[in-house]
Order: sequence, then structure tokens, then C-alpha cells
Amino acid sequence: MIPQSFSAYLLAWYDAGHRDLPWRRTRDPYCIWLSEIMLQQTRVEAVIPYYERFLQTCPDVAALAAADEQTYLKLWEGLGYYSRVRNLHKAAQVICDTYGGEIPADHAALLALPGIGDYTAGAIASIAFGIPEPAVDGNVLRVVARLTGDERPIDDSKVKRDMRAQVAAVLPHDRPGAFNQAMMELGATVCIPNGAPRCGDCPVAHLCRAFHEESWPRLPVRTPKKARAVVHRTVLLPRFDGLVGLRRRPESGLLARMWELPAFEEPLEPDALRARLDELGWQVDDLRSLRPAKHVFTHIEWHMTGYYVTLRAPADGLTWVTPGQLRGEYALPSAFRAFLQVIEEA
Ligand code: SF4
Repeated sequence: MIPQSFSAYLLAWYDAGHRDLPWRRTRDPYCIWLSEIMLQQTRVEAVIPYYERFLQTCPDVAALAAADEQTYLKLWEGLGYYSRVRNLHKAAQVICDTYGGEIPADHAALLALPGIGDYTAGAIASIAFGIPEPAVDGNVLRVVARLTGDERPIDDSKVKRDMRAQVAAVLPHDRPGAFNQAMMELGATVCIPNGAPRCGDCPVAHLCRAFHEESWPRLPVRTPKKARAVVHRTVLLPRFDGLVGLRRRPESGLLARMWELPAFEEPLEPDALRARLDELGWQVDDLRSLRPAKHVFTHIEWHMTGYYVTLRAPADGLTWVTPGQLRGEYALPSAFRAFLQVIEEA
């Protein structure tokens, strides 16, 4: 169990100084919500410019609800996990339709919104509204596992529930937001994920079992992951008269409805590719190999062979855009970054 005195030491340390982050200068629930969604799987330094740019275009819930798909996808371009911004948009519409544009000051109501899980609901409820709910993500689970010397896998739902209850039991009801932020700060700056934790700087080292027992190298424990599936793709960069050919991905599944470079879901040598493009009626003038690229998603890896395809006529079924439009208006997943770079270099 987490010792009762933990919170006082943690808060005293947090109060003595912490990182000054843009979303910590506000209690606006919209800003806190946006920052928490952006911070999932993305580093703080990378998030800051996205956060500021997003707020300039969509400064509040109503503006986000009214934004069109290309606008919010473009604002998210490069952050990845596009379902996060789609859910933000859906939730903004629900908030406008159901709550008159005010984010509900209620943990259960927050949890019911699209894309808001237990951690995010806890963060918004506690930081924006002072509601005593814990915000427990992987960082907090790591701290708890080390602090209590818990060798159970932190990705097991029963273990997560138990650790959440332990955090709730020491959460000070007068400062839940500061406590949750202090936990995040400890996990991000001291009890860090990769490599050795900085126990010498830790305000709760005297309470920590992993520190006393020197067991931190094996904590936290995780269930071994299954190997990712590898998909070999042949990605095309079609060019005609200075334009670039794009297509939309399918309505559901990975990167649903995102724009992409056309591709075949198999590796193709130049001759085989020419034959396939002939069948599709593409009038190929020139075919040039590009440097191969790899992109890793959560459960799948794309290993991509690329070709720069110069055409004598625009191929059917593609949307033809200028490089300027591509930069300014079309959001493409970062998986294609290496190939799009070729346009910039041309
Ligand atoms: S003493 Fe070390 S292992 Fe324990 S909580 Fe602090 S940083 Fe983490």
C-alpha cells in the first residue's frame, strides 16, 4: 500500500518547483482536456507547439465543434493517432449539443464522452474542477509499482484497478489537481521510464520499496507483448504536371479516411509495378525508386518500398493537388513523411 505520508512529501516537492507548461497556467477544462489528449504517447516538448497552434484556430469547445475535418486533421498532422482528434471533435459536438458548450464538471459525465478514458476524466475533473478523482496512467502505475515494490504486471486490468484504488486512498481532497500533476511530474522527471530512476532526487525515496530493496531495474513488470505484424507495401508518389496524386483511405480501420499516397499492399519490383499500373490505365512516363522507409504503429509495422511515378496524363481515382496545397491543406500521416520529403527536395 502507498504510505499515507506520501502525499505530503510529494506536494511539498511539487510546490517547491516544477516545469512551467502552458496548460499548467490555466484551469480552463478545454485547455486541460486538449493537452491531456495530445500528451498521450507524445513528449511534452513535441506537444507544446501543437497545443498553441490548435488553440489559436480552435480556442474553445464551440470552435472545435464547428471546425471541419481537414482543419482539425491538419492541426493534428504529425502527432499521429488521428482517432484522438476525431474523438475530440465528436466530444466537442456532444458537449455543445448536450451541455450547452460547457464541459461537464462531473467525472462520470466526462467519462461518457468520446475518447475520454478514466485517466483523462480524472485529470480534467481534478485539475479544472477540483474533484477528488485520481488520474492514473502508465507513468503513475510505474511510480506506484516501484514505490510499493509491486511485481504484478501493471497492464493487468485487476492490478490497474487496485493501484488506482491505492492512489485514491492517499489523494488529498483539498488539492486533487495539484496531487495528480505532481504524480505526473514525478513520473516524467524523476521516476522516469527508460533507464535508471533518479532516486537521489526523489522526494519519496525514504518511503520507496524499490529504492530500499534495489528492485527498480525489474519494475514495473509488464506482460510480454506479441510481436507486431509486418506489412510490406509499395508506395507511389504520382506526379503529373507539377501536381501530386493522393487518395483517401477506407472509411474504417487504420488511419481511417486519412489522405495518403496510393499504395499496393505487397512489395513490387519495377517491372511488376509497371505491369500493375498499366492494368489500371496509368500512363507511366518514368518510374524511379525511392529510399525504402519503415513506420511503426502500435500493432503493425509498414515496411515500404517507394517509387516516384511521372505520368503523361493524370490517373483516374486520385485527387491531384499542388505541393503548396499538400503542405497547407491536406493532412497526411507521418508514415509518408520520407516520401513526401522528395517533393520538397525536388
Ligand atoms: S525512489 Fe526511485 S524508484 Fe522509488 S519512486 Fe523515487 S525515483 Fe522511483
